[in-house]
Amino acid sequence: MPVVNPATEAVIAEVAAATAADVDAAVSAARAALAGPWGQMPARERGRLLWRMAERLTERIDEIARLETLHNGKPIRESRHVEIPLSAEVLQYYAGWADKLHGETVPVSANGLVYTRREPLGVVAAIVPWNFPLLLAMWKVAPALAAGNVVILKPASQTPLTALAFGDLATEVGLPPGVLNVITGAGGTVGQALVEHPGIDKIAFTGDTSTGKHIMRSAADTLKHITLELGGKSPNIVFPDADLDAAVRGATVGIFYGKGEVCAAGSRLLVDASIKDQFIEKVAARAKKMVAGDPLDPNTRLGAISSKAQLDRVLRYVDIAKGEGATLVAGGSRTDIGTGKGYFMQPTVFADVRPEMTIAREEIFGPVLAAIEFGDADEAIARANDSMYGLAAGIWTRDLKKAHYVASKLQAGLVWVNTYNVYDVGASFGGYKQSGFGRELGQHALDYYTQLKTVWVDLA
Ligand code: NAD
Repeated sequence: MPVVNPATEAVIAEVAAATAADVDAAVSAARAALAGPWGQMPARERGRLLWRMAERLTERIDEIARLETLHNGKPIRESRHVEIPLSAEVLQYYAGWADKLHGETVPVSANGLVYTRREPLGVVAAIVPWNFPLLLAMWKVAPALAAGNVVILKPASQTPLTALAFGDLATEVGLPPGVLNVITGAGGTVGQALVEHPGIDKIAFTGDTSTGKHIMRSAADTLKHITLELGGKSPNIVFPDADLDAAVRGATVGIFYGKGEVCAAGSRLLVDASIKDQFIEKVAARAKKMVAGDPLDPNTRLGAISSKAQLDRVLRYVDIAKGEGATLVAGGSRTDIGTGKGYFMQPTVFADVRPEMTIAREEIFGPVLAAIEFGDADEAIARANDSMYGLAAGIWTRDLKKAHYVASKLQAGLVWVNTYNVYDVGASFGGYKQSGFGRELGQHALDYYTQLKTVWVDLA
């Protein structure tokens, strides 16, 4: 399969298009590893291996950050200073958990010793999308390995290069064969074969909600464990008592960071009617100042949309928004960086968006903001929750009581107050409603890579 650099449209690599037979081979290797030394390895030693992978990733950071930018189109400053360092941090965080997954003793009425053990699930298939190719892989690989599972990692077909580099790196640090298998190929063949394979115990998936539903149905036949991190249409709510300059910055970062190809992007800007006009004007002014550039240039803040298909999808939504009567106040067109090549898009802002419009309801997954007005806090909550999604939300206010009240009412797995798009490996992340289930990051992610065994010893 060709790998395309979305900033130049050039084919930069070719990778294997795996088949169902390759999936069988990966499962055999994984099961052999589970039955072999990995299955017997002391937890602390697993932790050391994860830590060594983090160190090696940090040593190879320039090369791997460059690969991430080349196949995804994101600015090198995001790859080099955010995504790859965070990937190393995820490995370190779960390295520390490896030897701390203990059970408990349970008082029972009979004369018995009852205790629990946290055991690995077995073979985990991690299926990841193209927007944060290595980081989202680490969100799955690190807790899975820390808990003693083995992993088959399938990167998105558009962005396989950093997963392959990571597989190489795992070999360099001495991870035993079969513990981490990287398999490249199309979702419909390789992904589907993983989901249906009886030798796989769990699917950890990040991607589109419709793909998630399909995976859930397909995984039913073998009754696999599944966790799904899916799409979003997250509301970013601005009250008139907020620090409005900070809120303008937050609204802009919330939608334009990562070209808007961020599942938690604040793509619905809910603004109090009394400040709506001045606020949207300021957001639009910032959007117009963001100019796309060469992703490899360290000064570039806005890179290329990840693929031609994704750019076409974003442009289609712009047309729909115009057709339904939203007012375009910034951007709206494809742009270029003077080379005549590349899938670049202007940061785009629509005002006068009504809640029933398509751009208020469907995930675009690009740099397009839909601004919607509200009257009071309860209307803001109702509008925010009027979505099939529930991944994240933002609240901007100086009123502490209002902040906690609104946070408690929002149907979202993550609520930011007076900030947006900030993450930490310790803070769990995941969806409500059709944004999926299960949690990644933090201690809670480990629950989804272990199963509980109760042991009852008769002492009578
Ligand atoms: P996608 O669902 O098309 O692909 C995701 C992955 O699934 C890819 O590796 C793909 O090859 C694979 N896949 C496709 N069909 C499959 C099948 N039938 N069986 C198994 N695997 C299959 O999504 P995408 O286009 O790569 O990513 C964009 C979407 O992902 C957006 O909707 C976005 O919101 C969502 N996303 C969510 C999160 C999150 O954490 N919630 C993070 C990133 C992206």
